[in-house]
Amino acid sequence: MQANVLQTPLVYLKGVGPARAEILKSELGLDTFVDLLQLYPNRYLDKTQYYKINQLHDSGADVQVIGKIIHLKTVDQKRGKRLEATFVDETGEMKLVWFRSHKWIRDHLKINVPYVVFGRINRYGGLFSMPHPEMELLAAHQAGLKISMQPIYPSTEKLSSKGITNRVISKMMQQLFLETKANFSETLSEILIDTLRLVSKSDALLNIHFPKDQELLAKAQFRLKFEELFFIQLQLLSKKAARKQKIKGLPFLSVGNYFNTFFKEHLPFELTTAQKRVVKEIRKDMGGSAQMNRLLQGDVGSGKTIVALLCMLLAIDNNFQACLMAPTEILAQQHYNGLKALLGEMPVKIALLTGSTKKAERTLLHNQLQNGNLNILVGTHAVLEDKVQFKDLGLAVIDEQHRFGVAQRSKLWRKNEIPPHILVMTATPIPRTLAMSLYGNLDISVIDELPPGRKPVKTTHRYDSNRLNVFRFVKDEIQKGRQVYVVYPLIQESEALDYKDLMDGYESIVREFPLPEYQISIVHGKMKPKDKDYEMERFVKGETQIMVATTVIEVGVNIPNASVMIIESAERFGLSQLHQLRGRVGRGADQSYCILMTGHKLSEDARTRLETMCRTNDGFEIAEVDLNLRGPGDLMGTQQSGLLHLKIADIVKDNPILKLARYHAIQTLKNDPKLEKPENHPIRTGYLQLVKGKAIWGYIS
Ligand code: ADP
Ligand code: MG
Repeated sequence: MQANVLQTPLVYLKGVGPARAEILKSELGLDTFVDLLQLYPNRYLDKTQYYKINQLHDSGADVQVIGKIIHLKTVDQKRGKRLEATFVDETGEMKLVWFRSHKWIRDHLKINVPYVVFGRINRYGGLFSMPHPEMELLAAHQAGLKISMQPIYPSTEKLSSKGITNRVISKMMQQLFLETKANFSETLSEILIDTLRLVSKSDALLNIHFPKDQELLAKAQFRLKFEELFFIQLQLLSKKAARKQKIKGLPFLSVGNYFNTFFKEHLPFELTTAQKRVVKEIRKDMGGSAQMNRLLQGDVGSGKTIVALLCMLLAIDNNFQACLMAPTEILAQQHYNGLKALLGEMPVKIALLTGSTKKAERTLLHNQLQNGNLNILVGTHAVLEDKVQFKDLGLAVIDEQHRFGVAQRSKLWRKNEIPPHILVMTATPIPRTLAMSLYGNLDISVIDELPPGRKPVKTTHRYDSNRLNVFRFVKDEIQKGRQVYVVYPLIQESEALDYKDLMDGYESIVREFPLPEYQISIVHGKMKPKDKDYEMERFVKGETQIMVATTVIEVGVNIPNASVMIIESAERFGLSQLHQLRGRVGRGADQSYCILMTGHKLSEDARTRLETMCRTNDGFEIAEVDLNLRGPGDLMGTQQSGLLHLKIADIVKDNPILKLARYHAIQTLKNDPKLEKPENHPIRTGYLQLVKGKAIWGYIS
């Protein structure tokens, strides 16, 4: 089918019309034939046939199986118990599982009598299992009616209320296949199709919408998932290749006095092996002829700042300027102070530029930047303003990039004719295999080692009812001269309530820790930046012992004397946020603690998060759990990569397919970088269609 037919607006599909077209657009984002074609079912009800246990596939469909229960048992699990039945037919064995209503089921199920069970198939520990199946005695079932295999499409309340039910969507889909003659042009090469034993594009689309059986469905799913991930990888990889070829960089050829002097005389500690390796990677990258665009991942406290400084010194050695941007004033200030302290007597000119820099100072700064008298500029978003012009910006370091948008980043590029090298530092670790695929167009360096001598933060979970004990503990710590954070959640949707919680909490802390013995700071988003900074400053200087705050302190703040982090309503925080917050303590020589406060009522996911936090300090492990719990939506950068808008694949569950797709994308481009060979013609067509298509394929970096 030619692309232009597929680009037909849906309103022209028989049975759609303007009203329906509009709802389909607003509710599901469907514009054209191809959008509808790619509205893949969420799941399938398959009552067309009865499956033997050895015919089952992991396709996520609901299926029927005939067999007998031979054994029933109760199994202890982390929370509560589950009831597990061993269900067999002549080909094998599977499990039926219930998480509730055990007694009723135990009392009513018959052992060794043929049943038809219907439900969704999972694969669990090597065996297939079916949670909470529909059960019917075979004898009763045989009297009933047959229903066919039915796709279940994504839907919304509005859609169903306007009469666009699942059945209506199925009808539209049939119409679409009729009008397009179900003949869709192939978008993968023959070689790929042969090597991977894929079904054709037309077969895949037919069977995803109208599957004849489980096996064809599974094949269709595999083909479409592979294709989706393959094209994303192709795009990421070809962008990267293009960037390396086209975007000239500033070669930093020499390692000079600044770098060497600092390294020999000012380094306050020996670099960890990981830091050394990463510095080497970056040096090599900046020494080539292409622009560096590199992500530096390292857990909180892994020592990214010193790496950034060394790289900035390299820039200066090559007669360039460098800048370091942070997401908040406090952080920028801290970086500025930190770098100044590290540089000591070295003749490096460094300045700070934030929103609150005074006009006169600002003008002076602008001049110094332009005439090249300033070597390093540290700042916030203020650095991006058009007025800020460098004489020769060679390297831009961005700390904690998830606070910066891509568009903002691209502003940096315009500050030079040849774009500066870019180093993005993040403390939100991403599982390695995923990072490669997510950021196929970036290079990645990882600091996977903490400086020696760090005591891991001890993390515990306490219920609100235990608060007095927690307060007692806090008093002991303050007695020892330590400082304490108490953090409250602040979620946009419940902002008013959250502020109330914060203020209530603050008052009870003030009561428990009275003046003049205790001094308390409070910082939250509704305060003026000036007041926030003032309070923060008091805490930094040790004038206050307790910092009550919303999550504004989440990022980067470094106060080594703070040794206790109390997180209120910890169940409401995401894992990576909890980990970031915990990273605020454990920065000094003393044992640090993180106390997660919650009520008694907790969801299963919340419990997993809390348990994970108590079990490990390893950011990568935590990221892995987080990814499994939440999916990739919240990972930084997913928005840019297109991986958030997947139509069929799931980058967590389908990670093996992702790896396969990446491998073949690399091979394909290696043999044919511009997809010009005749055998790759289908790929080229498919690729161009996608790239021309939607905004999700647009990419700026
Ligand atoms: P992050 O990666 O979270 O930005 P920082 O760069 O702020 O971490 O470093 C955290 C702390 O560890 C700082 O106080 C820093 O001086 C210290 N540090 C960094 N590298 C080392 C090292 N190799 N040995 C000892 N201390 C280090
Ligand atoms: Mg940092």
